[in-house]
Amino acid sequence: MSELLVTGGQVLRPDMTVERADVLVSQDSGDIVAVDEPGALDGDDELDANDGLVIPGLVNAHTHVAMTLLRGLADDKPLNTWLQEDVWPVEAELTADDIRAGAELGLVEMIRSGTTALSDMYFEVEEIADAVDQAGMRAVLGFTAVTVGKDDEAARSDLQESLDVARKLEGAADGRVRTTFQPHSLTTVGEEYLSEFVPQALDDDLSIHLHANETRDEVTPIVDEHGQRPLAYADDIGLLDGDTYVAHGVYVDDSEIDLLAETGTGVAHCPASNMKLASGMAPVQDLLDAGVTVGIGTDGAASNNDLDMFDEMRDAAMIGKLAADDASAVDAGTVVEMATANGAALLGFDSGRIEAGANADLAVIDLDAPHLTPAHDLVSHLAYAVHGSDVCHTVCDGEVLMRDRTVEVFDEGAVRERASEHAAALVERAGD
Ligand SMILES: [Zn+2]
Repeated sequence: MSELLVTGGQVLRPDMTVERADVLVSQDSGDIVAVDEPGALDGDDELDANDGLVIPGLVNAHTHVAMTLLRGLADDKPLNTWLQEDVWPVEAELTADDIRAGAELGLVEMIRSGTTALSDMYFEVEEIADAVDQAGMRAVLGFTAVTVGKDDEAARSDLQESLDVARKLEGAADGRVRTTFQPHSLTTVGEEYLSEFVPQALDDDLSIHLHANETRDEVTPIVDEHGQRPLAYADDIGLLDGDTYVAHGVYVDDSEIDLLAETGTGVAHCPASNMKLASGMAPVQDLLDAGVTVGIGTDGAASNNDLDMFDEMRDAAMIGKLAADDASAVDAGTVVEMATANGAALLGFDSGRIEAGANADLAVIDLDAPHLTPAHDLVSHLAYAVHGSDVCHTVCDGEVLMRDRTVEVFDEGAVRERASEHAAALVERAGD
C-alpha cells in the first residue's frame, strides 16, 4: 500500500473555504484518503506544497487537444470562414502520428497548468487515448461524426465509427478514459442520421457530447428548416438527456434554457473561443440560475490559443458579467466551481473536490509571486490572478504527473520538438 502526503499547504475545500491542511492520497486506489490538520497524517512519500494552495485538478470540459498543431496558424476570422479556409484543409491532411504528437503537446500543456481531466472531440481517438494513458490523466474521448458534404455510405460510416469508438474505448487506461457518442453539431449531421443513431447510443447508455447554438448561423438554418429552436429540435430527436452536454450554448433563448434544465443537459462554456471568433456571449448566469450544470472548456488551441484553464476562468467571469450586464454575475467562487466540480459532473468523474473518497486529482499553486500578493482572498486569486505557470505540482489518480514544475510522465523537450516538426510538415502538405 503506497500513500502520498501532500503537505505544508493551504487547501481549497468544496465549500470554497481555504484552510491549512495536509492531504493524504492512496496511490493504489487513486482516491483521497483524508484531509486533516498539518502534522496529523503520515504517507510513504511526500509532496511539499510549500505554503502553496492545493486545489482540485481543473477539468477542461470541451477541447480538441490535438489542435495544438494548428495554434497560431490562422487567426482573426469568423467561425465558418476560419473552418472552411484554414482548419478543414489542414485537418484533412492529419495523420494518426500527427494527432498523437499534437495530443501529447496539449496534454503536457494541461499538466503544466493544473488540468487533470479533459473532454475531447476529434478523430484517431485511439492515439489520443494512448497519449492520455501515458499522461496519467483522465479524459472523456470520442470520434466526432460529420455527415454534411458526404454521401450516404460515408455519412453512416462516420456515425457508426462514433458508436464503435465509444463502445471500444470506454474504461481504457484503467478506467481513466471514458467515452461519448459525438455528432459534431445539429447543422453538420443530418436529421435522418441523428434519428437513426442517437437511439442506439442511448440504448448503450453512452453519454453524448455535441456542439450546439455556438453562433447565429447554427440557429437560423434549424429554425428555417424545422420551425423550432435548435435545442427543441435536439430534444425531439432524443439528444437531450441527463448524460448529454453541449459545447458553447451561446444563442440559447429562455425556452431552451428551461429545456436544458428540465432534461439535465449540461453546457461546456468556452468563453475565449466565443470571444475570439466573435461568436457571442453565452448567458451563463441565466443558465446557472435555471439549475443547468455549466463547466468550462478551452475549445481547441487554434481558437484560444492556449489550454490554460486559469485564463478560461477569468474569461468566463468577465464575459459572464458583460452578458448579464451585472458585475456580481458569475462570481469568483462560481467560476472556480465551474472549472472543478461542475466539469467533473459533466464528464462523469468523481473528481473536482478535495475531500476524502474523491479521486486524488489535484494541483498545487505556488503563491510566492508578486501578482499573487497580498493574499486577501485566494478564491479571488484563482479566478482573477493565478496563471497556469503558477502551478508547481500536478497529481492525478494519486500519481504525480508534475513535481516542482518538471513533467514526470513525458519528456517535455522531446514532445515539443516532435509537435513542431509534425506541425511544420502538416502545413507544408496542406499548402501543396
Ligand atoms: Zn469545439
